[in-house]
Amino acid sequence: MAVDDQEANLIALQAALKDSSYRLVTATSGAEALEHVRTYEFAAILLDIQMPNLDGFETAQLIRRIERGRHTPIIFLTAIFNDEKFVERGYEVGAVDYIYKPVNVSVLKAKLEVFAELFRKTKEIEFYSKAARLRERLDRDRRIAEIQEQNQKQYQDLVEGIRNGIVWTANAESLRYSFVSPHAETILGYPLRRWLDDSAFIWSRVHEEDRELVDSALRTARETGEDVEFQKRMIRSDGECLWFNTTVRCAETDRGKELRGLCIDVTRLKETETSLREMLKMRDEFLSIASHELKTPLTPLQLQVQAVERLFNQGRIDKVPRETLSQLFQTSTAQVSILVRLVDQLLDVSRITSGKLSLVKDRVDLAEIVSNVVRLFMDELLSKSVEVRLDIPGPLFGTWDCSRLEQVVMNLLNNAIKYGEGKPIQITVEQVGDQAVLEVADDGIGIAPADQKRIFERFERAVPPQSFSGLGLGLYITRQLVELHGGRITVQSDPRSGTRFTVVLPIDAEA
Ligand code: ADP
Repeated sequence: MAVDDQEANLIALQAALKDSSYRLVTATSGAEALEHVRTYEFAAILLDIQMPNLDGFETAQLIRRIERGRHTPIIFLTAIFNDEKFVERGYEVGAVDYIYKPVNVSVLKAKLEVFAELFRKTKEIEFYSKAARLRERLDRDRRIAEIQEQNQKQYQDLVEGIRNGIVWTANAESLRYSFVSPHAETILGYPLRRWLDDSAFIWSRVHEEDRELVDSALRTARETGEDVEFQKRMIRSDGECLWFNTTVRCAETDRGKELRGLCIDVTRLKETETSLREMLKMRDEFLSIASHELKTPLTPLQLQVQAVERLFNQGRIDKVPRETLSQLFQTSTAQVSILVRLVDQLLDVSRITSGKLSLVKDRVDLAEIVSNVVRLFMDELLSKSVEVRLDIPGPLFGTWDCSRLEQVVMNLLNNAIKYGEGKPIQITVEQVGDQAVLEVADDGIGIAPADQKRIFERFERAVPPQSFSGLGLGLYITRQLVELHGGRITVQSDPRSGTRFTVVLPIDAEA
């Protein structure tokens, strides 16, 4: 821009610079020059010093205050010759050069060309650096978008991958679901659409005993904004009740307050917990029954031993009649047998549990085994006046573990005596095809149908412990022994007409 109050000078300049690579803007006053500076950016300003109103120096000062003119090179045009002070003032207000009138056109042209070139170069650099910055920003934005998308995908995969859990969000006030992870459908059986369209229905699927707890947990989450954890039950579409461990938090979003929850299906864990509790309870019950059962024969045994000791210490043992002593020893031996039987049962259970119970098979006669056992029980049968009827047509040989089969017959006969109410017992042995069938039947108290399966399990009993002694292990061990032989045991019973246990054994079980 050229600024001069003498229009003739401006016209001369325009003519001189008409073939230049830049455009010349003219102004005839400081004020007009300032107006142009506000509108355009100039490569250089040729400023006449001596002008009315605003002179060149004042105009230069004001140009510097305008953003567009802050760094524009200013060349002063002056007729005043080389005065030091004058030149200094020019530099103070931002002059880069002086040109003296009358103007040497070729010098002026050369100088302006330099400024124009500088301006172009600066603009070019600015343009490229702006472009580079823009490209950089676009690159960065793209990378951020990619990372965000990746994160979103990972987050989605993570949420959708939770197979045993439901991730959800819902409006904190209306409790309307806004998001539910897809596995909700597989876990609870209600279609995802129903969660979103009929949220009230899903909330109504909370077990009625847990609704108060859920309401209060949601209230706490809303009021505190902290994580709230609780366990609740929900009813699956097929009516099954599932346990969930739920964590809920309330967050502020642009859609208002939002509840965010994670419900993990812990039904199996709960079941395990319940069965563990039951097992612990069973163990405690067993310990108390076992100590009672062991104590029962021990007390009379202790009394008998103490009585013999007393007689011995008093030197009166010789005077006790032989029959009395024999009676004493007989009852002591009976008590010891009961103890041995109980301890054997416990040992067998531990062998079965650890898989260490094995058979020693031989060729043995089941008929003889049954007869021997009945003989062993003869004293007890006589003392209780219980009749045993044997129906054994003849020997029945098979490949079995003799002492373990004895144990089977003993357990069944022992039970028939214990629960048989003193009525006759029938034992049958017969061969059916390649199987041996043993039956022990009584006319005693019988077993209710509901109990007939579980009595073969460990510690299971179907009688009150105060009425009948026992650990609830005999039938469990019997079943294990029969099954180890490849056979099976069943029961037929009616609470009014006694009980029949049937054992079927393969005759040629592998040795
Ligand atoms: P225990 O006799 O020590 O209780 P068992 O395992 O031998 O243990 O028997 C389990 C339960 O089966 C008994 O407690 C009883 O309720 C029932 N039971 C077994 N045999 C008979 C039977 N012959 N008559 C009626 N109930 C029986």
